[in-house]
Amino acid sequence: MRLRSFLLSVVAVVAMAGLAPSPAHAVATPTEAAAMAAANSDHTAYTLPPDKLAKSVGISRFYDSLYFIRTVWGMVVLFLILQLGIAARMRAIAVNWSANRWAQGSAFMFQFLLLITLLGLPLRMIGHQASVRYGFSVQHWPSWFGDQAKDFMLLFGLGTMSAMLVFLLMRRFPRRWWLWLWPPTVFFGLLGTFLQPLLIDPLYSKFEPLGKANPALAEQIEKVASHGKIDLPRERMFLMIASAKTTGLNAYVTGFGSSKRLVVWDTLLAKATPDEISLIAGHEMGHYVLGHLVRGVLISFVGILLAYFVGFHIFQFLLSRFGTRWKIPSQENWAAIVVMYLAVVLISFFAEPIGNSISRSMEHDADVFGQEVVHGIVADPQTAGQASFQLLGESQFVNPSPSALVEFWTGSHPPIWLRAAFAKHYDPWAPGEEPKYFKK
Ligand SMILES: [Zn+2]
Repeated sequence: MRLRSFLLSVVAVVAMAGLAPSPAHAVATPTEAAAMAAANSDHTAYTLPPDKLAKSVGISRFYDSLYFIRTVWGMVVLFLILQLGIAARMRAIAVNWSANRWAQGSAFMFQFLLLITLLGLPLRMIGHQASVRYGFSVQHWPSWFGDQAKDFMLLFGLGTMSAMLVFLLMRRFPRRWWLWLWPPTVFFGLLGTFLQPLLIDPLYSKFEPLGKANPALAEQIEKVASHGKIDLPRERMFLMIASAKTTGLNAYVTGFGSSKRLVVWDTLLAKATPDEISLIAGHEMGHYVLGHLVRGVLISFVGILLAYFVGFHIFQFLLSRFGTRWKIPSQENWAAIVVMYLAVVLISFFAEPIGNSISRSMEHDADVFGQEVVHGIVADPQTAGQASFQLLGESQFVNPSPSALVEFWTGSHPPIWLRAAFAKHYDPWAPGEEPKYFKK
């Protein structure tokens, strides 16, 4: 029982810090609520011409189906690897190969990860081919396969280290290893977020200083940042050469501390006006000012702890129920990694709508912040906001009437038609209205 009360207090403390909204955005302001009500019944803010509309419906159906097929296929593959005794055979090969634990763990992970990567490859190839056909991707097969190889190397390196850590903890704490796994997950999660823009992103794309590529834009974004009291000097703004691979448009903020930076894709720079890019940059800054990064990190750490708790019990249930059939006698058997992976995949799938609904509410707050922070710098934030969503949506053939179930399950942002409509109706500087994050 001591463990249970400890767990409950950890969850309670972190949940209070993470979930409790700060007073500034505890509730929607009357101006915001009225704009949201108007937006919800306005499907005219984001529209597509008839030919693009027909194409967008086909495209969203294709990607929605592909997403669910890939999810189910991923689970089926893991189940078959267990049921056909492949996991037990891979374990035998690893154990016969060497007596050294590290060599055994690496050998098992190499076989297992290579197998699931290869079995998932046909569906990923179908997805890439479709992206090229629809005009979203301009990446040629050799470069695409190169990225797949880099993905595999990262997966193998990080996967093997994680597996070795799990097995080390399992030997010391046979019933509580899932709990001891939590602090290193948090530590390496933070380290990974810090290092991603420095070590991982440059593996896939080239970056240049934004101030060099477009000094006028860098200056305008600096103005937006200083209006929002955000420390984002020009040296922290980068242009990513995305056009080598994609026709998609994007800008984002990543990293934290000394690795924090704003990244604008060159594809966005080519198509959007400085005002539209300022709105997108303002939205991104909103995530920092409103503490979304810290809140997101805390929420995901609570989520991970709960997921480990549930995952451990699913793992134990599967082992005791099917262990004999799968030839996996104990949790310390290398083949048990496949069972663990299956538990992780199941939990991630069912946790997705929870994480996404939290994300959608933060994204909406960032939209509000973005539209307010550019006030006085962008002449007409409502029109520029609506135009930026029209541009983002139209360039990717985003369906103006997406499936409600798919949006609920997989939508990390509110649907684009709603974001465009909100931008159109939200004018906190009109007489009698009140901004949410800035004083008039
Ligand atoms: Zn965002």
